[in-house]
Amino acid sequence: MEIYFTNKGIKRMNLILLILFLAACKSPSPSKGLVTAEEFKQLPKIDVHAHYKYPRTYLIDFFNRWNLKAMLVDVAIENEGTVVRNFDNYAAHQKLHPESFYLCTTFTADGIEEADYAERIIAQLKKDIDQGAIMVKVWKNFGMVTQDSEGNYIQINDARLNPIWDFLKENKITVLAHIADPEQAWRPLLDENNPHYNYYKNNPQYHAYNFPSMPSYEEIISARDAWIENNPGLKIIGAHICSMANNVDAVAARLDKYPNLSVEVGARFGDLAMQDSEKVKSFFETYQDRILFGTDYGTGEEESQLSAEEVRQEAERLEEQYKNLFHYLVSEDSMVLRKQNTKGLGLSKVVLSKIFSENYLRYLKESN
Ligand SMILES: [Zn+2]
Repeated sequence: MEIYFTNKGIKRMNLILLILFLAACKSPSPSKGLVTAEEFKQLPKIDVHAHYKYPRTYLIDFFNRWNLKAMLVDVAIENEGTVVRNFDNYAAHQKLHPESFYLCTTFTADGIEEADYAERIIAQLKKDIDQGAIMVKVWKNFGMVTQDSEGNYIQINDARLNPIWDFLKENKITVLAHIADPEQAWRPLLDENNPHYNYYKNNPQYHAYNFPSMPSYEEIISARDAWIENNPGLKIIGAHICSMANNVDAVAARLDKYPNLSVEVGARFGDLAMQDSEKVKSFFETYQDRILFGTDYGTGEEESQLSAEEVRQEAERLEEQYKNLFHYLVSEDSMVLRKQNTKGLGLSKVVLSKIFSENYLRYLKESN
């Protein structure tokens, strides 16, 4: 249906639109005590979960404009007995811009049946720490991928890993733990609006629903919880809100139970947006000292492999993502986020400052 306006009608429409526009510009209103877009931009930020594997000409300028630093996190991708890592790329990028980046290494359970496994991993970690690594990531290979020669999946609480945890405790190295995946991985892909639909569509190897021999979500989560409990001296950051972002009550129960645990929020706003915003806001407020900012954003290939237009679009997307962060965490607007209808959390400056940098800076201080 088309609607025709008279000239006068159009003028009136324009006036109404102008009023609406001005009202929108004022939101979030400072009188409500909400942080403004400019204040948010200036707020110091440390992204503890990023994968900027390769430099970009726009990146450091972007980091400076958003007052941002990031942890470059290596991931070990394991596939049919081969392990692919990119630590050297991340280390080189970190060395290029030490004022913008921190460095995080990783390891897998590949070879865990060999007698010198732990010794070998510790030697590798020592080398990576000498290269500047101050954090170690363990990925969902533990629980969902790596199997021993009898086909048993290696869980994160496997006793053969204990010497490695002891080494990390002694060296006050934090572990970023992405163990298990969202519960959706164990369910059929029925709803295109599910925030994880595209990921499992594009990465069927992690869609546990298709692999009945893979341990259940509950089994992996309870191995993870046992590991956190058995290592009270090890600082653990539960990546992606502990793989239970769809249920902040379950996360709260872990934070209450394990003082050595904190959580990182990267790539799970869709799950948060499915829950009541007041409830999510109160989760952020209650655990404001234990929540860390992370994004999972990164650069997958060298800039020379992209066209100028692709680089421009990538930079634009990144800018857009940070604007979305502001919209969800800082404003109280109604919005559609990752296909979910929700409302911004309107977090205070005190809470935002802790989540975006102060909590991780405290971690760093405690490690020195
Ligand atoms: Zn990641």
